[in-house]
Amino acid sequence: MNYDVAIIGAGIVGAACAAALASAGLSVVVIDSTGIASGTTAAGMGHIVVMDDSEAQFALTSYSQKLWDELSTELPPSCEYEHCGTIWVAADDEELSEARRKQEFYTSHGSTAELLDERSLRAAEPNLREGLAGGLLVKSDSVVYQLTATQFLINKAEQHGAEIRIGSAAAAITAEGVKLANGEVVSAGAVVNAAGVAAPDLSPGLKIVKKKGHLVITQRYPGFARHQLIELVYLRSAHASRSDSVAFNLQPRSTGQVLLGSSRQFGVEDEEIDQVILRGMTERAFEYVPGLRDLSAVRIWTGFRPTTPDNLPFIGKLPDSKSTYVAAGHEGLGITTALGTAELIADAILGRESAISPEPYLPDRNFAEH
Ligand SMILES: Cc1cc2nc3c(=O)[nH]c(=O)nc-3n(C[C@H](O)[C@H](O)[C@H](O)COP(=O)(O)OP(=O)(O)OC[C@H]3O[C@@H](n4cnc5c(N)ncnc54)[C@H](O)[C@@H]3O)c2cc1C
Repeated sequence: MNYDVAIIGAGIVGAACAAALASAGLSVVVIDSTGIASGTTAAGMGHIVVMDDSEAQFALTSYSQKLWDELSTELPPSCEYEHCGTIWVAADDEELSEARRKQEFYTSHGSTAELLDERSLRAAEPNLREGLAGGLLVKSDSVVYQLTATQFLINKAEQHGAEIRIGSAAAAITAEGVKLANGEVVSAGAVVNAAGVAAPDLSPGLKIVKKKGHLVITQRYPGFARHQLIELVYLRSAHASRSDSVAFNLQPRSTGQVLLGSSRQFGVEDEEIDQVILRGMTERAFEYVPGLRDLSAVRIWTGFRPTTPDNLPFIGKLPDSKSTYVAAGHEGLGITTALGTAELIADAILGRESAISPEPYLPDRNFAEH
């Protein structure tokens, strides 16, 4: 069988690419060694958030958020898509100035963000401790249950004729298409490497490393929190040094559960729960929301974010390749940016003009450093 496009990886990024390409009328096959949403996607938090840490990050996250909002009318209730909004919590006056800077950035880029003082912050989230300086409310951010959303995107691709091959490991990308571990060759006009943290195994030289994270989910406590709550220094800890870090990041689920993050560790390969990191992460959260101490956790897990040197994903054709595309390295924003990524990949393969400039995400910036 000769396909127009073979996609390696049925995480949220590969699934979104499959839905976009199959909807555009191309014949598509999705190949995954393990299962739909079985990799990093299974471990994520599902916060769809517009970020302002660079112009390119803002462009991709805000474009993708718009696409999620458009798709939300099609999403079944099992995808738990909710516009809970984000509050970036400022602990002191210094962080409140950061909130003001952030607000100016969003406003100057056409987004809306509302500054909260101490009193309005507590009114919005009564379980936050007293004495916090304020925060920034971004109402347009949302959450999705990324496992069912990935399945939804795969179903959508199948409805447009895509074939899904689970249990087939790709061993190599060749001029013909994809060579599987069992020796079979799946021939395709183009290949999309959406293998997440494993993408460099198939496209050697791609600079993607694992960044480990922990998450905790509680039993059901409806109304305990109303917004995604993130401490304002989160960005510093998210992108800064390569040393271990924890930050307060809380998500209310539509089930009434509270999902709690987050931690970041480089150079760690094992999936084990690190008790020191876990304690640091929960203690940090207790500083912001003391009542969390009384909630019961039902599950704790870890996952690996696929991280690139400049914190932007690789999206587009590999340099020196006629037909291999990469859609990988989405770090802690792959659920947010999956839909924008898929459009950029479809645009590149179909020769369409893109809604945002594809330049900042092209994989050749990775190779240009050598
Ligand atoms: C703790 C944590 C919290 C997060 N929170 C958020 C959040 O709130 N918001 C957000 O936007 N993002 C979040 N993320 C990031 C997000 O989860 C990832 O960026 C995203 O899931 C990456 O998706 P992917 O499809 O690229 O990779 P994956 O989900 O890892 O999919 C890759 C797939 O490729 C398959 N594969 C690999 N190698 C091969 C091979 N050789 N042959 C065949 N198949 C192969 C794997 O089986 C896997 O299914 C979080 C991540 C973590 C770890």
